[in-house]
Amino acid sequence: MNIKTQNKKSKYQVYKPPLRGIVMDGRNKGCFPSMNYHLTPVSSNAKTGPIPVTTSSKATCWKGCPFYGNVCYASTGPLALHWRKVSEGGRGGSFAELLEKIKAFPKGQLWRHNQAGDLPGEGSRIDAKMLSELVEANRGRKGFTYSHKPLTTANATLIAYANRNGFTVNVSANTLLDADKVALRHPDLPICVVVPEGTPRRTTTPAGREVRLCPAERKGSGINCANCKLCSKATRSYIIGFTVHGTSKKNYAAAVAQ
Ligand code: SF4
Repeated sequence: MNIKTQNKKSKYQVYKPPLRGIVMDGRNKGCFPSMNYHLTPVSSNAKTGPIPVTTSSKATCWKGCPFYGNVCYASTGPLALHWRKVSEGGRGGSFAELLEKIKAFPKGQLWRHNQAGDLPGEGSRIDAKMLSELVEANRGRKGFTYSHKPLTTANATLIAYANRNGFTVNVSANTLLDADKVALRHPDLPICVVVPEGTPRRTTTPAGREVRLCPAERKGSGINCANCKLCSKATRSYIIGFTVHGTSKKNYAAAVAQ
């Protein structure tokens, strides 16, 4: 792939998207009119802890995601209300504005991209230019996020690029078996997996890969993303698991049974 271009003004590697397989057709010039991005400078969410978190319009989500709608944790509660307002344009702003805010973070700042929403780009595709800009805005900071977009060759290439350049993108698997399939095809990508309630804190996939459940799920642990940081480690050797809770349980079982 063509990821070798050096920016003359910067010592950092700058991504030049491959010409084949990735849509860079100028339809959106790097920003969809219907797309909106919001930054919460200090999250009040107990699980993330007091770090900056962003929210992207729902149009960034792939509708083929088996959790789209009724399993996704962001589809219920206060986060769902916030997400709707961002998606409808009532909160947040443009992608360019988001980039400026990220660039203003102090060096070393841990931040979580997308408490709701997915990587930039409509639906299944990742917008190479926008992701590249996000990676550059994050230089020197510790941004991390998750993606449930399909791991096409183009998407996987872009996600690997982000991970190599300091912006950690965890790819999401739907089950432990699915996590094995993802790991086989993409051994260099950090993986997260959704697991049913009752899964032990330390477990393995059917093929024996280590899985550790998110420690913030343990009530009273005092652990949150701000002091845990596991999801920001792109080269970790284990998979992180998230337990599906509450009303989503039934929907999860139905979604993964298909
Ligand atoms: S594993 Fe750590 S960093 Fe990842 S979501 Fe849980 S608390 Fe946050």
